[in-house]
Amino acid sequence: MQPDISSNRETPVDTFVHPGFPARVVFGSGTRERIPEEMAALGCGRVLVLSTPGKTARASELSDLLGDLAVGAFTEAVPHTPVATTERAVAFARALEADCVLAVGGGSTIGLGKAVALRTGLPQLVLPMTYAGSEMTPILGETSEGRKTTRRLPEVRPRVVIYDVDLTLTLPPAISAVSGLNALAHAVEALYAQDRDPVTSLLAETAISALGSALPEVALRPRDTRVRAEALYGAWLAGMCLGTVGMALHHKICHVLGGAFDLPHAETHAVLLPHVVAYNAPAAEQATAAITRVLGGPDAATALREFADRLGAPRALRDLGMPEEGIDQAADLVVRQAYWNPRPVDREAARRLLSRAWAGEAPRSDIEP
Ligand code: NAD
Repeated sequence: MQPDISSNRETPVDTFVHPGFPARVVFGSGTRERIPEEMAALGCGRVLVLSTPGKTARASELSDLLGDLAVGAFTEAVPHTPVATTERAVAFARALEADCVLAVGGGSTIGLGKAVALRTGLPQLVLPMTYAGSEMTPILGETSEGRKTTRRLPEVRPRVVIYDVDLTLTLPPAISAVSGLNALAHAVEALYAQDRDPVTSLLAETAISALGSALPEVALRPRDTRVRAEALYGAWLAGMCLGTVGMALHHKICHVLGGAFDLPHAETHAVLLPHVVAYNAPAAEQATAAITRVLGGPDAATALREFADRLGAPRALRDLGMPEEGIDQAADLVVRQAYWNPRPVDREAARRLLSRAWAGEAPRSDIEP
């Protein structure tokens, strides 16, 4: 009998398309020192630094580091990338004759960099400070007149991503935990993505392993460069998953809840992931086996819930500010223009899953579609 050499692999080697990863990545401690040479390699010499108002000091530090290469700083990035903010940043970039942008921060700042790049064609460099993964994706979410639209546009992919572990040392443990779970969710959904390939499955499993070992350590020793490096490495791999394959029910629900109720992004991911994995488990056996292989536990959903508990992550949507009467509205939105999902989802199944997540109950797989 032939041995089953692919039994440990999520995706057997068969026919597949792997699109590749277009961004150049520089990883390590102190790597921000290399921004000038990365700019030179892009043929750029006039960078506009972008940050949120809370990261003005970091933006100034980088401007000082870059000297004459930094022509200005725009420090008004906010969550959900409002078009009005982007237009101010674009006007500022044009007035300064910037020839590239450097986004320093989490998903909110990186979103602004992508939105500026879309309108100006300027190349982007990114110094990520959270684990959300936007730097590795062609995804841009923008808000205008209270409506958020999300698009996949190859031209918004950053050209150079500089992961400097030092910049993550200040990420508070509570934000590190939920941001890390946000990253974990990208890897988990990549394991059962419709368009997964052997490389993305490899990345996803390694991401779960790195995040699984590093995040509890980060909670204990947030200023330990070694554990921060492992967490950031996992986040990078998870970001590549998000940027390469399509996401499913979990990301759809988080998108709906963020848009309809303005729930905090990373915390919403943290609450929902065990519930969605429990629901999808009957249709994603290899994916759930990969998760338990890495995280342990009796089943994938329980392993994820226990892991999130260990990190002190929130358990219930109601604790994030979601009104109970919003559950029905959210269920409607989840099944409208649904993402592909390994298990079919109808409105009632979505409503039951949301009810359990709203109340912080244990995840269950026996919710019928
Ligand atoms: P964020 O950028 O809003 O940052 C979260 C908080 O952490 C902020 O208060 C910020 O000031 C603080 N912070 C960030 N880095 C820090 C550090 N190193 N030290 C101290 N404080 C720090 O949040 P996020 O979770 O990174 O990003 C969420 C946003 O990004 C959402 O709008 C989401 O939709 C978007 N996003 C987009 C993609 C994509 O592919 N387009 C992927 C993931 C997230």
